Amino acid sequence: MENRIDLDMAFYQHFLSTPTPICTTDKHGNIREANRAFLDFYGYALHEVVGRNPKILKSGRQSPAAYGELWRQIVDPAIGHWSGELINRKRSGEEVTVHLTVSALRSSNGELSGFVATTLDITRSKLLEGQLSSMNQELEDLNRLKNEVLAVTSHDLKSPLNGIISRVRLMQETLVDLPRERIREHLERIVEAGDRLTGFINELLDLDKIEAGRYQLHTKRLRVDALAQLCVEINAPAAALRGMRLTFASEGKPRPVEVDAVKLEQVLNNLISNAIKYAPYGSEIEVIYKENSGGGRQIAVHDRGPGLPEEDLAQIFDRYYQVKKKGFVPTRVFGVGLGLAIVKNIVEMHGGTVSAANRAGGGSIFTVCLPDPSVTRVKGGAALVIDPHDTIFRYLEGPLTLRAIPHFFARTAFEVQRVLENEHPDLIFIAAEDYPGEMAERLAEYSAAGVNQAILVGIGPERYRQEHIQYLFSEPVLDVEILEFLDETRINSRN
Ligand code: ADP
Repeated sequence: MENRIDLDMAFYQHFLSTPTPICTTDKHGNIREANRAFLDFYGYALHEVVGRNPKILKSGRQSPAAYGELWRQIVDPAIGHWSGELINRKRSGEEVTVHLTVSALRSSNGELSGFVATTLDITRSKLLEGQLSSMNQELEDLNRLKNEVLAVTSHDLKSPLNGIISRVRLMQETLVDLPRERIREHLERIVEAGDRLTGFINELLDLDKIEAGRYQLHTKRLRVDALAQLCVEINAPAAALRGMRLTFASEGKPRPVEVDAVKLEQVLNNLISNAIKYAPYGSEIEVIYKENSGGGRQIAVHDRGPGLPEEDLAQIFDRYYQVKKKGFVPTRVFGVGLGLAIVKNIVEMHGGTVSAANRAGGGSIFTVCLPDPSVTRVKGGAALVIDPHDTIFRYLEGPLTLRAIPHFFARTAFEVQRVLENEHPDLIFIAAEDYPGEMAERLAEYSAAGVNQAILVGIGPERYRQEHIQYLFSEPVLDVEILEFLDETRINSRN
């Protein structure tokens, strides 16, 4: 072989035994020689490569322009070689990142006689490099996050503290001449600042507690729509300060459900205050309560703010996650990115879900869904009718008997107690006319005894509102609606 004779014998021995994959070609670029390392690395037998163009190794990842430049340098007598990284393909199809050096071989008169190519496999080091750089990026992100959290945390801690200290100083210096009214005002501001501090610290601790699974829900039965309306009222002054209209609407027939009122209020306040924070001055925010046909409760906060970048929707509920994309974050806003993480944790503890979406006309919608408690609620249950003056029993007895629902009748507190202990009812009907005081405590007792639902019967909506019992009871059922109600509530006989 002509080329083999051209090579110095020792060099040729080295070519054969080196662990570096090398091949040589003729001046047309067709492979003449390939060493064992080359064949092993690319997975070919010698006869499969000899006479073929090294194009067989191409992965298609490099552009034709890149190859053009590669060959331009190699055949240029003034340069004569090319060295660089590219992605090749083995016979098996596996892609490999290699550092390739190709040199032109020329005879003593300068005539081109072929090429030699040396391959260095850098796939693994590339992979490690990639991992290292993404770890570096993560570390940088974490470090930046730590600095931001520290900055925000210290701002949130320092500004109320400074307020407290400066007011106390002022009082120390001027106490003798300070009118009582001014002292009272200073003290109020000090208490407010203290409350803000504890609120912030509690938020941090809360999240840790919830995430570590150490938070216990303290649930009681109440109407979630009434709670949502209360949150709207609480946040209205803050919205008004930004010229915003904060409205509440309710669809469907709200019924009470077991929730942790304090925590759910925190959820709604977080969502509403975000809308106030991120939506523009003068825009409108709507809080909408719906009870869907399956019985689940849904509270949605709609705003006309910047909305959320689609790529952030999945992560927006992560701890410390904040939107960074230009055009989405107003400069005035200062936050830590804990609020939505807390929201998600609390809602999930209730067995519910929370999601974020963009409104068609701009703005975002945050929706909290709480599961339907009635599905397991009264199925197969018994009913207790509390009716001291026989006003509702006659309406209920027929329908309950017809549906084979065991039912018990109680006139006095003693009788109620006895039924609760012995019959374990799931459902209580209370004659609304005899609505007794301390109902909240009574309801807590019923609930502790395993009663899932307490229903007022026979009271008009007017009276219902006057009594301020909408937090505890759903809209009362009128005598004439009993049949419809029993069907809707899916009460079945025990067997
Ligand atoms: P914070 O408001 O303290 O930054 P959150 O966890 O409450 O933390 O919110 C996380 C991020 O989600 C915010 O930084 C903001 O980028 C985005 N965000 C939350 N609510 C809204 C909203 N109503 N409109 C637009 N972006 C929002």
